[in-house]
Amino acid sequence: RTTQEQTQEALEYVNEVYETVKKRNPHESEFHQAVKEVFDSLVPALAKNPAYRKQAILERIVEPERIISFRVPWVDDHGKVQVNRGFRVQYNSAIGPYKGGLRFHPSVNASIIKFLGFEQIFKNSLTGQPIGGGKGGSDFDPKGKSDLEIMRFTQSFMSELSTHIGPDIDVPAGDIGVGAREIGYMFGQYKKMRGGYEAGVLTGKSIDSGGSLARKEATGYGTVYFVEEMLKDKGFSFKGSTVTVSGSGNVSIYAMEKAMELGATVVACSDSGGYIYDKNGIDLSTVKRLKEVENKRISEYVKEHPDAHYFEDCAGIWSQPCDIALPCATQNELDKMAAKILVANGVKAVGEGANMPSTHEAVEIFQSEGVLFAPGKAANAGGVSVSALEMAQNSARLSWSFEEVDAKLQEIMKNIYLESMKAAEEYDAPGNLVVGANIAGFIKVADTMIMQGVI
Ligand code: GLU
Repeated sequence: RTTQEQTQEALEYVNEVYETVKKRNPHESEFHQAVKEVFDSLVPALAKNPAYRKQAILERIVEPERIISFRVPWVDDHGKVQVNRGFRVQYNSAIGPYKGGLRFHPSVNASIIKFLGFEQIFKNSLTGQPIGGGKGGSDFDPKGKSDLEIMRFTQSFMSELSTHIGPDIDVPAGDIGVGAREIGYMFGQYKKMRGGYEAGVLTGKSIDSGGSLARKEATGYGTVYFVEEMLKDKGFSFKGSTVTVSGSGNVSIYAMEKAMELGATVVACSDSGGYIYDKNGIDLSTVKRLKEVENKRISEYVKEHPDAHYFEDCAGIWSQPCDIALPCATQNELDKMAAKILVANGVKAVGEGANMPSTHEAVEIFQSEGVLFAPGKAANAGGVSVSALEMAQNSARLSWSFEEVDAKLQEIMKNIYLESMKAAEEYDAPGNLVVGANIAGFIKVADTMIMQGVI
């Protein structure tokens, strides 16, 4: 058969499975969006290797191995019983135990967890580490909750989750709304339920509970390392660039820190209430104190920095001119309009620190306008990479220095970049990191699934 016929067949295969996904998972728009993005990229790989179709790899890979949904009852500070919904999607274990974060946010539902879990399969594969894909969370809203309420909720959440996870089974970590404090309470509860110290069951732990140095910094640093590789290839650099970074959580803060270290001026960051603009460059120590210590809104920043401005519109951050934009907040935060404005203002590169922060249309605009684009599943893989390094340290019962972990992280990010570029080249989409990352991540998992038989 000609290549054209093979491509046609691959396209039909992709469309057929995608239609089934939509039928089987109605009203799950984020999940559909993530599947479509990956599937569209895979056409050349499916055309080249008919075994994938024969082995029903797409049908198998979109269906989670297991979805756990459970009740999370807890007592609030007024003595009232509250009930939330908990999830864990154990998506794919071909190349290692399920691995992926837990998200606590009111928007969490099956669609969100499935989209994140699906992305995680390919991201984790790209890291080169032995980790499968999973994700979980709850529609619990941590905003405004007392420390004791957080503890009671996380303990209840872990009481159920503990029966489904383990260092060689499924290893959760943090995501939006889940940081060191929540991981600490969950680890305590898991330890109590199991009656044993299995440090490798969770990552993102505090250093004295078996956590890894540089895990906190890893996602943000990794995103900047990745983007710097991409810039270097074109003769650009963070040095001397103007950068905007959405969000002000863990990913955003350490992306800003590394970008500044590399000589960039970061002029804007945001939270769900709005964004701040500081033409002199954001003072990171203020942001860190407000967000990591005092749990305050980003609007407070301008009280201490009267030259800076606060705008009550978080998506407005994309209207500020910049050379490099790093969306590090949440899914679909950067749409078609925002992409057009960024392009009109001369943006050179976009690197996704969050998971699927750019809509499909926004990505199309960047790519057709020649803006360098680093997709999340490659650019934000630094977090889960260092999680895998944390698991390795837990198994070996030792801990590496910050410099050691950071050096490994840099090497991993560079490798992800090179592997993605190589796959893009090999499958006729030179320079297209979306296609390259999806294909490179997919092939390793798909080939391993075939080797492990029909399971
Ligand atoms: N939540 C992060 C992610 O989206 C990290 C997951 C992990 O460390 O397991 O990749």
